[in-house]
Amino acid sequence: MEFQERFATEAACLEYLAASRWPEGFACPACGARSAWVLERRHLWECAACHVQTSVTAGTVMHGTRTALRTWFWAAYLVATHHPGVSAKQLQRQLGLSRYETAWLILQKLRRAMVAPERAPLGGEVEVDEFFLGGIEDGLRGGRERGTKALCGVAIEVRGQGSGRLRLMVLPDASGRSLGAFVEATTARAAIVHTDGWSGYTGLSKLGYDHRRRSQRAEPGEHLLPRAHRAVSNLKAWMHGTHRGVGDSHLPVYLDEYVFRHNRRRTPMAAFQTLLGLGARHEPTTYDQITGRTQVAAWANRIRTSAITPS
Ligand SMILES: [Zn+2]
Repeated sequence: MEFQERFATEAACLEYLAASRWPEGFACPACGARSAWVLERRHLWECAACHVQTSVTAGTVMHGTRTALRTWFWAAYLVATHHPGVSAKQLQRQLGLSRYETAWLILQKLRRAMVAPERAPLGGEVEVDEFFLGGIEDGLRGGRERGTKALCGVAIEVRGQGSGRLRLMVLPDASGRSLGAFVEATTARAAIVHTDGWSGYTGLSKLGYDHRRRSQRAEPGEHLLPRAHRAVSNLKAWMHGTHRGVGDSHLPVYLDEYVFRHNRRRTPMAAFQTLLGLGARHEPTTYDQITGRTQVAAWANRIRTSAITPS
């Protein structure tokens, strides 16, 4: 509600974009003058001194758009925060768009921002496991045969009783070589890596990890790697609920999207900004970070205090 009220008009969205672009207030890139006229419909700031026009949407996903900024803002907010993920059809309904194609296009553009590589390696204690995704869920007896399903790796940080950052990747197989490469690509060398007893993980110590194998459940029904298990079952529920029938070729994109949202679940406003291309591209660490709520407040405050009044 707060979000919708704040961005109820095109002018409010433009003000926010200008505040992101010029946190210290407008300054003409050509002559440095600090006053401008706003050509609202074209998203342009025209310098009052030299008349050079600067687009406030340059470098964002909204550049050159004919769709209302309000629609973009609300779409990015939904994609960033709506937990099970949003399909183009849901987005069309939520935004009240007459054309499905518009919703689809917006979604594709926002999704592109989710493919931003998440490079900072996981650290501390990390649970690592592999699992199958896609295909027919029933009928497979478990085990590690590939079948028609895609084999994926999951790595997730242990943060007290909860989970920290997540990484997901499609794997060619469950060999020691593939699993070792997955851990190396996602996890810092100094980390403690928890896995199950699968022989594919035995090489991790040689790679320099503090590898701890778990083979005994503390209690019946408990999972050896509870955080990895939880992340995977949430992922599966999401894939089934929202993206039925995702082909293997699209799988990495959906894994990226899931990871993006998981890793920003406590900082929805950072996610929103990244999706729109407003900077804040670095990956947030979730542990000791401010909660989404305080971030909204800080962010609202920044809008109020920044001077964007054109002369
Ligand atoms: Zn100027």
